[in-house]
Amino acid sequence: MDDFDEKYYLILKLAECHKLTLGEYEKLIVNRDAETTKRLRDFANAFRNRIYGNKIFIRGLIEISSYCKNDCLYCGLRRSNSNCQRYRLNRDEILNCADEGYKLGFRTFVLQGGEDNFFTDEVIGDIVYKIKTRYSDCAVTLSLGERSYESYKYLRECGADRYLLRHETASKPHYKKLHPREMSFENRMKCLNNLRELGYAVGCGFMVGSPFQTAKDLARDLKFIERFKPDMCGIGPFIPHRDTPFRDCMAGTLELTCYLLSIIRLIYPPVLLPATTALGTISKTGREQGILSGANVVMPNLSPVGVRKKYELYDNKICTGEEAAQCINCLSNRIKSIGYKIFTHRGDIIKK
Ligand code: SAH
Repeated sequence: MDDFDEKYYLILKLAECHKLTLGEYEKLIVNRDAETTKRLRDFANAFRNRIYGNKIFIRGLIEISSYCKNDCLYCGLRRSNSNCQRYRLNRDEILNCADEGYKLGFRTFVLQGGEDNFFTDEVIGDIVYKIKTRYSDCAVTLSLGERSYESYKYLRECGADRYLLRHETASKPHYKKLHPREMSFENRMKCLNNLRELGYAVGCGFMVGSPFQTAKDLARDLKFIERFKPDMCGIGPFIPHRDTPFRDCMAGTLELTCYLLSIIRLIYPPVLLPATTALGTISKTGREQGILSGANVVMPNLSPVGVRKKYELYDNKICTGEEAAQCINCLSNRIKSIGYKIFTHRGDIIKK
């Protein structure tokens, strides 16, 4: 088989078997062109539409703290960044965001933040419990980084339904290049396994175009997703932040991110796949293009406007100036314009 035929064979194989070998994933990435992109996208949309129709799920993102004890080289919230403006929301501010979000139709709240020691199990557990008792029809997702098994267990008992913890990269040597020595690939993976064991709906994910990333690293990410079968998978382009060691690195592209979204939809058709804020940041129509490549989730910001600019993971993050209501209107119109519509229920994964 020549290269030409092989690319198309790989796409058919992926659509049929939902898995490829490591080498095949790599080839699909390296040899991509307009034609492979279109074929993958058409399959991805067909699978997504068969399971979720034209419904796009929304999650209200509440960025609870910009304090972080970690020092990930790519992230604007890293502890070594002395220019980062630190803030943390208190319990009532977080509950107010949820109240406002509920009125706007949100039925999933994602509490995300840096790894901030202020947010002990008791503090977070109390907030989760309050949201869950106030709004029994809502799901609470946590995205607070690496914690102990006991911590995840306690928070699950307090009512947390889902947890997002991007694996960041499934290649150990690559992981080391993106993180300081005290962080470990093994612990990240162990956390994901613990979360799953505890009955959370679990989200993993990675940045596209992060420094030092090769096609082989991406193939490993895809292999990991194929095996782990995450309920959710967050992928977005890497975007440099001016106050990090990666300030001069190139950003990931819209094109490769969308290509990988389509592949991930084919690897695990039911997966909840967000068109991320980072995708909307590198291109004006990034989130729309993400949806048209197979994504089915968007995560508008519900954080108080006063703190949004301070939660700066990367430069020029969008939606930092508008009120939540404006954000949801804007997104809703964008989604309608491409023939999809926002669905305001919890939006759990539909496994066949
Ligand atoms: N502290 C939490 C939340 C991290 S922020 C945790 O560890 O899970 C959420 C995600 O933003 C990260 O997992 C990372 O993949 C992404 N992110 C961080 N810096 C970024 C950058 N410069 N460009 C693009 N995405 C970035």
